[in-house]
Amino acid sequence: MRAQPPASHYLDGAYVEDETGDAFESVYPATGEVLASLHVATPALIERAVAAAKRGQEQWAAISGAERSRVLRRAAELMRERNEELSQLETLDTGKAIQETRVADAASGADALEYFAALAADRRGAHIDLPNGFAYTRWEPLGICAGIGAWNYPIQIAAWKSAPALACGNAMIFKPSDVTPLSALKLAEIYTEAGLPAGAFNVLQGKGPLGAALSSHPAIAKVSVTGSVGTGAKVMGTASTTTKHVTLELGGKSPILVFADADLDAAVSGAILGNFYSTGQICSNGTRVFVERSVRAAFIDKLCRRAAAIRLGNPLDSETHLGPLVSKAQYDKVLAYMRVGQEEGATLACGGGPATVTGFEDGWFVEPTVFTDVVDTMTIAREEIFGPVMCVMEFDGEEEVIARANATEFGLAAGIYTRDLSRAHRLAARVEAGTVWVNAYNLTPVEMPFGGVKRSGIGRENGREALEHYSQVKSVYVATGPEDAPY
Ligand code: NDP
Repeated sequence: MRAQPPASHYLDGAYVEDETGDAFESVYPATGEVLASLHVATPALIERAVAAAKRGQEQWAAISGAERSRVLRRAAELMRERNEELSQLETLDTGKAIQETRVADAASGADALEYFAALAADRRGAHIDLPNGFAYTRWEPLGICAGIGAWNYPIQIAAWKSAPALACGNAMIFKPSDVTPLSALKLAEIYTEAGLPAGAFNVLQGKGPLGAALSSHPAIAKVSVTGSVGTGAKVMGTASTTTKHVTLELGGKSPILVFADADLDAAVSGAILGNFYSTGQICSNGTRVFVERSVRAAFIDKLCRRAAAIRLGNPLDSETHLGPLVSKAQYDKVLAYMRVGQEEGATLACGGGPATVTGFEDGWFVEPTVFTDVVDTMTIAREEIFGPVMCVMEFDGEEEVIARANATEFGLAAGIYTRDLSRAHRLAARVEAGTVWVNAYNLTPVEMPFGGVKRSGIGRENGREALEHYSQVKSVYVATGPEDAPY
């Protein structure tokens, strides 16, 4: 099974290879087969990409917003036309089930291109009346932006970062995770075909050192990273040496609050999707499920019956619900957390170990796992696992649960299941999170800003708010009377 691209990198509107960079491989997580062999970008290639991005940005920013809008819209159409091809590639690179990638990955990337295409055509500043004149503001692009992606949603992350960046007239150099390097190259092809000037979107392959080089490059004005809290902190530190703008989309340990008056089946659906979708590899997952004591037994009973029906299998089979974890490293990490949960005294309600899938014995499959009797201080209740591991805790009353939900360094998301409208809004205001879902979980329409508070991040993707993170406002003061001076 091969998915070898024509070359490792895409810059200045074309594929580029530089075999002097260290070699690395992309593998299919379901079998361990090598999909592609690539090379890390060398310092010389980084400089070529920066020079290309500078030329591309000048050309791109010089055209009207309406023209930029047309190019982005065309790219969205191409993404949709190629959804099947892109979904298969994403399934091979990540191991995620094709029934997910067909609806969630390139599709949500196309939504972002279309949405920011519309906004590109309507970027306007303000007019401010003053006693002896007026001022107006101009929203200007930042210049060259770097995008650094995680491995869980490779093409979606590339699109979510590049669409608002390009809408504002910037160029982007994108570094995918070296674990899932392939689909960002396809996005670059699509942009070129849609009419984006050469150099306005470039893809460089590499690992942490490439991310660090982009984050410290003096010609790059902004860096947006999706990754772990530790990486986010490093990027912020490196970016500070050249005073760059930063957007950090980082990890979480988000709470789902299930009250006794909730529609319990809906709450179970939310908890299942919010823990097991993408084999649990989603930053906003609601991995701490707090259930009001009186409905705890009923909730766990429904949950385990539903979890037992989850089908692990061939990721390319449309009947499969869950594929393997993305890598051996992630597999080892998740299994270690499953062991720690048991050692620290949590009760294993279902799952808890590796899973064997016939025909895919070398794949990194694990069982969807539910721990009950979890105490807030346990490791599995505090640390981000990034695998299909749910912790269920019980609570008595609103005050208790909101204090426990907020007792974490993270603040990415939260879910509230209740039929009490006042309580839903009261708690939505009190929970420390960038996104709160009421009677739903993990839905991220492009119109809605998404991002974290506390250590889960800075800045927002999606929504109109994203534009402010890819542009800078210039104030122009115009005097309409004579200038006066006291001396
Ligand atoms: P990592 O933090 O390991 O890596 C993220 C990206 O940063 C990768 O491309 C990585 O390169 C790169 N990188 C690593 N070190 C540096 C550095 N010093 N400077 C610049 N870039 C660097 O995250 P994962 O890829 O393991 O993804 C999982 C994490 O991402 C989880 O914590 C998850 O919560 C978070 N995430 C957050 C989301 C959000 O929107 N808030 C969404 C999705 C995931 P490489 O790996 O190639 O070496």
